[in-house]
Amino acid sequence: MVQVFCDSCKKKVKEPSRGVNYVSELGLDLCLSCRDELVLETGKALSRKGAYLLKDYRGVYEHTLRKMCK
Ligand SMILES: [Zn+2]
Repeated sequence: MVQVFCDSCKKKVKEPSRGVNYVSELGLDLCLSCRDELVLETGKALSRKGAYLLKDYRGVYEHTLRKMCK
């Protein structure tokens, strides 16, 4: 059985099924609660910048993801 560990909180995902209880972004695996946090943090960072352009969204999303998975 494949073992999946969240790259942000480092917890093991039980009975991993991609898209169901974890997601893969840019080669990193995230459990759903960290994914939710990522989306939340991305939204906050964007509103601080006062920017809601789609190209900014992607950049901020990636930056936030990398920060969470250090
Ligand atoms: Zn996690």
